[in-house]
Amino acid sequence: PEVITIQELANRMAERAVDVIKLLMKQGQMAKITDTIDADTAQLIAEELGHTVKRVSEADVEEGLFDVADAPEDLLPRPPVVTIMGHVDHGKTSLLDAIRKTNVVSGEAGGITQHIGAYQVTAPSGAKITFIDTPGHAAFTAMRARGAKVTDVVVLVVAADDGVMPQTVEAIQHAKAAKVPLIVAINKIDKPDAKPERVRTELLQHEVQVETFGGDTLEVEVSAKQKTNLDKLLDIIGLQSEILELKANPNRPAEGTVIEAKLDRGRGPVATVLVQRGTLKVGDIVVAGAEWGRVRALVSDTGASIATAGPAVPVEVLGFNGTPEAGDRLAVVDNEARAREVTDYRSHQKREKQAARATGMRGSLEQMMS
Ligand code: GDP
Ligand code: MG
Repeated sequence: PEVITIQELANRMAERAVDVIKLLMKQGQMAKITDTIDADTAQLIAEELGHTVKRVSEADVEEGLFDVADAPEDLLPRPPVVTIMGHVDHGKTSLLDAIRKTNVVSGEAGGITQHIGAYQVTAPSGAKITFIDTPGHAAFTAMRARGAKVTDVVVLVVAADDGVMPQTVEAIQHAKAAKVPLIVAINKIDKPDAKPERVRTELLQHEVQVETFGGDTLEVEVSAKQKTNLDKLLDIIGLQSEILELKANPNRPAEGTVIEAKLDRGRGPVATVLVQRGTLKVGDIVVAGAEWGRVRALVSDTGASIATAGPAVPVEVLGFNGTPEAGDRLAVVDNEARAREVTDYRSHQKREKQAARATGMRGSLEQMMS
């Protein structure tokens, strides 16, 4: 059943909580400011205080925010979004760094490129590819749980000298659960004890059959250290993406997912967002989780200030009033009132959930003590 705390009810009516408590007492109900009352009682109280009540459901509030279908003719090709996964120390970070450095345009080389958790590169074929900086398996799962499908392709890094390890298997399972195709990058082939054949055999045991073994999983032997075959990896990603026929409508209000977010001393809340459909613009009013804001600035992966960001573009969003959470979905709304409606409702839900959890914990603690 829907409930609300007395404090929250008072806040929403801009009344004093004590007046709410007094009314409740008149009805023979003793309550503290932190207590919750059900929706019917709240409605009675509100009407007693001369307010009109509009009860909203989650469906009303969330209506039209996400996944409004695009007409097929509005869909245009978009770059793939790639996540690199694999066992610790198998070279995920090295590979991401190597790809990024080889790809940095000369004018930028040596310059300070900002780290924003995601970046876009151009493959030798000219195709663009977006990489998300290892969100880690936990974040990947969290995003999936929230209905945010961020990745189109997973590059599974396996060190040739170490072979398939527990987190390699985990990554395979994640990719399968999310129905995301895998590309196998056998890394560290520069090492004298590299055994790429063994990696292929071990992968078979986890139902990953690479091309050279007659399967359909694309693969490439690389060395992040010596920058071997990085172009080949990019081309293979391009190939895999063509098969997927990835498309999005750039000409609509933006939707995206928060990859990471932090409170920056100078700049305030900063959210790294992957735009997934539509185009995000400076001046847009956005909601993400329980936070909203007017986009004050968009900063690209190279640190440049940009005015717009289209599908598959990773971008830092400045202007949020609070810091959203990684995995939160972002949507553009029509106006501030709508943004407030959505985020008020969500923060209320969030508080209720926390309160319910706290009560549940107290309950079990009491049981334990008795
Ligand atoms: P992560 O934990 O998967 O992100 O792995 P890192 O990128 O941090 O790499 C772990 C270690 O392996 C580091 O010492 C890297 O220098 C080393 N390493 C990564 N790639 C290669 C490679 O291609 N060849 C060799 N010889 N060492 C590598
Ligand atoms: Mg790493």
